[in-house]
This record gives sequence, C-alpha cells and structure tokens, in this order.
Amino acid sequence: MKLTESDIADNYNDVWVLGEIVEGQVHKVTLELLGIAKELADKHTSKKCKVVCLLMGSKLVGYELELFHKFADRVIIVDDESLKYFNDAIYASVVSRLIKKYKPEILISGATSKGRSLMPLVAVKIETGLTADCTGLDIDKETGLLLQTRPAYGGNIIATIKCENHRPQMSTVRQGVFKSMEADKTRTGELISETVLEEEKNTRFTVLSEEAYSEDSKINLHDANVIVTGGRGVKNPEGFKIIHELAGAVKGAVGATRATIDSGWISYAHQVGQTGLTVQPEVYIACGVSGQIQHLVGMQSSDFIIAINKDPDAPIMQLADVAIVGDLFEVVPVITKLLSNY
Ligand SMILES: Cc1cc2nc3c(=O)[nH]c(=O)nc-3n(C[C@H](O)[C@H](O)[C@H](O)COP(=O)(O)OP(=O)(O)OC[C@H]3O[C@@H](n4cnc5c(N)ncnc54)[C@H](O)[C@@H]3O)c2cc1C
Repeated sequence: MKLTESDIADNYNDVWVLGEIVEGQVHKVTLELLGIAKELADKHTSKKCKVVCLLMGSKLVGYELELFHKFADRVIIVDDESLKYFNDAIYASVVSRLIKKYKPEILISGATSKGRSLMPLVAVKIETGLTADCTGLDIDKETGLLLQTRPAYGGNIIATIKCENHRPQMSTVRQGVFKSMEADKTRTGELISETVLEEEKNTRFTVLSEEAYSEDSKINLHDANVIVTGGRGVKNPEGFKIIHELAGAVKGAVGATRATIDSGWISYAHQVGQTGLTVQPEVYIACGVSGQIQHLVGMQSSDFIIAINKDPDAPIMQLADVAIVGDLFEVVPVITKLLSNY
C-alpha cells in the first residue's frame, strides 16, 4: 500500500537487521549488517533512528549481548520451538506482523539462503519493495531515502534504487560486502521479547529437520585470509591442481570464476563474483582470470590483489596491486615452491 508523506515522516523509524544464528553463533553477515545499520541510522539525521536486531529461532538466550556490543540499540527476540527449523511461512508471518507493529524505516538482511527466501515473502505481505544483493547502502542527504546500489543487467550497469512511498525500505546484502565494526563491550541495550501466534504456526508444511547437504559446506571462502582463484586460464579440471597446491602452501582457500564452474571443472561453492560469493581476503591471487566486471564485484575489496595472466591488458591486471605477466603453469609452481620453504 502506498503511504502518504506524513505517515512515513511521523510513524516510521529505526533501521532493522534481520539476525541469523548458524551453528550456535551469530552469523557473520548479521554482525557486518549491524555496522552498516549504525552508519545508516547516524546519517538519517531527519529521524532519530535506533539500530534494531530481530532474532528468531529457538533457545536464543544470551545472544543479545554480542548484538549490543556490535551496535544494536534494541534486540527483539522471538524464541519459540516452532522457529527451531526455518519454515519461511511461519517466519514471514511473524516478521510481517512485527513490521506492522513497530514500523521500521529500513529492514536489511543477509543474502543468505534464509534471507533470500524470507525477504521476498515479507515484501509481498507488507506490499513494499526489495532490492536484492546490494553492494552499497547509503542515505540520501536531501530526502533521507535509502540508496540501494547493486549491479544490474548482468553487471553492465550499477543501479541505485530508491523506495519512495512504501515502508520499510528493504534490502539484502551478501556476506563480505561490509566489514564488521570493532565490538564495544561496554554497550548494552533494550531487550524485547515477542511470541509466535498460534495461527502463525498453522502452515501447509512442517520442517522436520535441517542438515548441511554436501562436502561443499566445508569450503569457507569468507574466513580465508588468502584466496587463490583459478580462471579459464587453468585450461581444464586438472589445471586446478597447481591452484590447490598454492592455496595449500599459503593455508588459503581455492576460488574460481564462473567460466570454470560452467565448464564443470570445479564446484559452485568456489565461485567468486556477482552470482557467487563476495569476498574480502587479505590477499587475493587471481590465476588465469581475465577480470570481467561480474567477477570483480565479488573480490575488488580484497586488501591486496595479485594477478597472474599472459595478457598484460586483461582488466584484472589494471586492478591488481602486483600484476605478473606470464604463463600461470610456470609462475604458480615457482611461487608455491618459494612459499613452501618458509
Ligand atoms: C549475469 C552474469 C553473472 C555472472 N556472474 C559471474 C560470477 O559470479 N563470477 C564470475 O567469475 N563470472 C561471472 N560471470 C561471467 C563473466 O562475465 C566472465 O565470463 C567470467 O568471469 C570469465 O572467467 P575467466 O576470467 O575465468 O575466463 P576468461 O574471460 O576466458 O579469461 C581467461 C584469462 O586467462 C588468461 N590465460 C589463459 N591462459 C593462461 C595461462 N596459461 N597463464 C596465464 N593466463 C592465462 C587469459 O589471458 C584470460 O585473461 C557472469 C556473467 C553474467 C552474464
């Protein structure tokens, strides 16, 4: 429903983050989003916005402290056995009801599998807009609107999207796009407890269990300090052997371009880029990667980039801090050998 200007000005406040717990820990993307939520709240000078984290699940006692330390002013906890497993129908009903009750100005969530499933459902229920996979969030100084930036048309343009007449303004953001802020362990905040209504539990299906489904869940590019990525220049699946060896020597993880995944040389869990993961390691080593924009958006915020390519004019070579012109099959084993001796 289209809202009036005065309704938005008078009734909608606060920047909400949809929190997630994974394997007993607050998800890293939640902590990253609390940092950007604080920035947005501070910049939204026409309103006194609080940073609010909405956390849903079962047995959630004690998580609020870390969220306060990471700049949540208020934590709303919905702790119920019906939320033990992720049932998007129950979750969406609860989030939608709480949005109607508290009227947040902005709602952001990680573009995790849960966030990607839940946020569109909520946007439809609430009748507002949603910008998925944002790579930048800011507040328009003049209007106070959320500026939601994301690649569009296959990464060929960067679009900035505004949601003028509907609330909340909703975005999803992938892990690694924003850096988590240093915790302030002196901070506390307000804790609110909400419940699940009986009618919200009556969904057409029941989730009986949840489990990680493959070996791929062990590949963790987000936590790696060094990522060694192979592109089409590795030529075939066997070509990834030297990429794995270099990653092993530097205790890093193996990344890949979409071209290699589409060719079936390595699994999707390794993909870096617009339709893969966004990463920010200390060192990113791109081997035989051309550096098309769809790849760059996933790794360009790495602290230090090394590129190895036969073509000195490949776009990745312009971005790299160190660009090595050469055949990766000659260069990579030499680097591996040098580093293995340390
Ligand atoms: C909607 C959309 C989404 C996309 N999402 C992604 C994404 O998430 N991630 C992604 O990576 N791509 C993505 N792509 C694809 C992207 O546009 C490129 O096609 C892809 O990144 C190219 O992969 P590449 O660099 O491995 O291959 P190429 O572009 O073919 O580059 C290979 C490079 O290897 C070099 N080379 C060859 N042999 C050697 C050698 N022996 N030694 C050294 N260098 C050598 C070549 O000079 C070249 O620069 C997407 C595309 C679209 C349209």
